[in-house]
Amino acid sequence: MNFKFLRNEIISGNTSVKEIVNDYFSKIEEINPKINAYICTTKDLAKSQAYKIDKLIQNEEQLPPLAGLPIAIKDNICTKGIVTSCSSKMLKNFVAPYESTASSKLWSSGGICLGKTNLDEFAMGSSTETSVFGVTSNPWDINRVPGGSSGGSAASVAAGLCAAAIGSDTGGSIRQPASFCGVVGLKPTYGRISRWGLIAFASSLDQIGPITNTVSDAAEILYYMSGKDPYDSTCLDRPVPNYLEDLNKPIKDLKIGIIKECFDHPGLNSEVKESVLSGVERYRNLGAQIIDIDCPRFNDGIATYYVIAPSEASANLARYDGVKYGYRSDSGSNFLDMTSKSRAQGFGDEVQRRILIGTYALSAGYSDEYYKKAQRVRTLIRKDFDNAFEKVDILLTPTCPTTAFLKGDFLNDPLSMYLSDLLTVPANLAGLPAISVPCGFDKKGLPIGLQLIGNVLEEHRILNAAHIFEIDAKVIENKPFF
Ligand code: GLN
Repeated sequence: MNFKFLRNEIISGNTSVKEIVNDYFSKIEEINPKINAYICTTKDLAKSQAYKIDKLIQNEEQLPPLAGLPIAIKDNICTKGIVTSCSSKMLKNFVAPYESTASSKLWSSGGICLGKTNLDEFAMGSSTETSVFGVTSNPWDINRVPGGSSGGSAASVAAGLCAAAIGSDTGGSIRQPASFCGVVGLKPTYGRISRWGLIAFASSLDQIGPITNTVSDAAEILYYMSGKDPYDSTCLDRPVPNYLEDLNKPIKDLKIGIIKECFDHPGLNSEVKESVLSGVERYRNLGAQIIDIDCPRFNDGIATYYVIAPSEASANLARYDGVKYGYRSDSGSNFLDMTSKSRAQGFGDEVQRRILIGTYALSAGYSDEYYKKAQRVRTLIRKDFDNAFEKVDILLTPTCPTTAFLKGDFLNDPLSMYLSDLLTVPANLAGLPAISVPCGFDKKGLPIGLQLIGNVLEEHRILNAAHIFEIDAKVIENKPFF
């Protein structure tokens, strides 16, 4: 249920927040065993948050802006006093001693925490299959993956198990699962939302963002999570505009750039291409100017990302040494042996693969060849975008080359899995905001997402264009089978 509906229920007095929260938990109990979107629920917390809002209503006091809206949090975002596992054996028993800035802003705005959602271990993946808690299923077809790594968050929104969910996006982990699950996913500008309390994967790429039923819900969550944070020096000290204000602005004369390179890519599924191009036609009919744009380095994003992200991951994950955090092997004969056994037993295959790739790419003699070269290409990708934004206001691509694939399809084929990120990683490399909005279905009835990329801090433009599209296209009329 979207925010508008829930708010009406709450404000009209039709139902109490307590009842809403209980209904969500009943639904979670019924449906979660089928899709495994939640790793845990936080009933006590939710009930005490709901109680406070109901009290305000009873006393006719002013309600906070997100009052009573039930939200799920990806389990790589710290929630105080609650296990924050990153879906890894390494952190399976790690109880976060503090709250992330992003989630704490939601709670102080009246949001209700329903629980923590499943992800690929340490957010490394595109299918939510590498979680120590088992795979999450796509609500549109439970034999298929929900995408990843924020697959639990996207599936919980699609299945109606929360009003909105929070994810993290390092190379597409909000947008790709949103696309696979037929919901909206927004990765903000790098630094728009504080990363304090987001367990680091690749720090120069990681961003927290919303996964929602509607674009307007995403705009609201973005607004309440954004802003300067003394705990994160990379968080931008820039005013946060009211993203709802511009949502309905007519898009007549909006200049939308079509990135030629990605529509020409051989890996792009023809049904996805057709659906996204019909989205382009819709924009044309709505009065937007459609302009072809060259981004010659766009398709190099994937190779660049898979050097930079593992390099940063190898540095970030060095903290898991069996001493300071998480799992410790008790079979080590000395410190070094204990540390290496803790890592070998505590991390899954994909995480170990990334640490190895990153360590190699950063090692003396190879860092010029790999890491520094990747950083140079990253700059060229950003320059392509800078040039593009001299000619157009926003850019349009498909979100993913395919629709949701079958469980197991790529589990033993990491390179093919990595290709799933082809169209999402460039925005992370350049630090740009990007949104995925549903634009159609393939012949199997699986949702397809369209991606809009904006210039730095121009979230309002992509939200506006996505909202107008959503209203006009009415793609998601009904929820999946539940
Ligand atoms: N699928 C990408 C990866 O495996 C992106 C992950 C993410 O955005 N967290 O690295």
